[in-house]
Amino acid sequence: MADLQHILDDIAHDMAGATERGRIADYIPDLAAVDPRHFGIAVVDADGRTFLAGDATTRFSVQSITKVFSLTMALGTTGDALWQRVGREPSGTAFNSIVQLETEQGIPRNPFINAGAIVIADVLLARHEPRETIAEFVRFIRQLTGDDSIVIDRHVAAGEQATGYRNVALANYMRAFGNIRHPVEKVLGTYFHQCALAMDCRQLAMAGRYLMMGGTDPETGRSVVTSQRARRILALMLTCGHYDASGDFAFRVGLPGKSGVGGGILAIAPGSASIAVWSPGLDAKGNSLLGRRALERLVQHTGWSVFEPMACVMPDNRP
Ligand code: GLU
Repeated sequence: MADLQHILDDIAHDMAGATERGRIADYIPDLAAVDPRHFGIAVVDADGRTFLAGDATTRFSVQSITKVFSLTMALGTTGDALWQRVGREPSGTAFNSIVQLETEQGIPRNPFINAGAIVIADVLLARHEPRETIAEFVRFIRQLTGDDSIVIDRHVAAGEQATGYRNVALANYMRAFGNIRHPVEKVLGTYFHQCALAMDCRQLAMAGRYLMMGGTDPETGRSVVTSQRARRILALMLTCGHYDASGDFAFRVGLPGKSGVGGGILAIAPGSASIAVWSPGLDAKGNSLLGRRALERLVQHTGWSVFEPMACVMPDNRP
């Protein structure tokens, strides 16, 4: 493999010159104002080395990528009982679709579509009021990254709170089925603030390290989740992390990944790398266009794939 820094520099250089950049998500007021020319990429490897290129230290709105972390927290508090309220199947529909909820009795298909993440926010509220829940969420992210400067962009949250009619509809609809247990305003306030987390690629790649390392924070050696849970979160990222383009992402990139409408993607090469990319322009399915292309390029050069034969070690050979 060529030097990873060179690979990233080449990718960032090519992406800077790309003419087709996708469309910025403009349904959240602050996102509409982001410059579409940004591109950043960060890789943290299993040895703790960090490689950055392009706008890797420019913060952006993490949006749906936060659903990976809120799911991790909810599994920690509720355990597998969570799966009675949220499914584990790809939705095959848009991130904010309401249609399946009717036939499926208010149980969202998975934790990464909006409806599923709203249920997760409701689960997290079982212990605290929204303010403390959000503070706990930010604390968790700061622990994962080792970076206390990470904050929520309250302006982004307020904008979404003022215009997120579809999410209001989803939450009310699920409340009617009894799958939202707290007042809808509190649940959505929590959800919108969670989505409005601002991070850069470097911080995001750092936050994903526990998923690269089988559930353990490599810095502290602390177990964030069990290895089985880490594998299951990765399985959900692979099958559901890109809405109804999840199959295409698995086909092209071959790594578990989660995208957000801010244009970020977190992808994990288990045992090898935690990767974050950001380019604000989205494709027709709401995923970062150049982010996905950059990851395709990266895995071509590195060979990272969960479908790589070396990824499976025979039980007898386990250390
Ligand atoms: N906060 C966004 C929403 O609820 C998140 C969507 C996304 O990133 O895909 O619409």
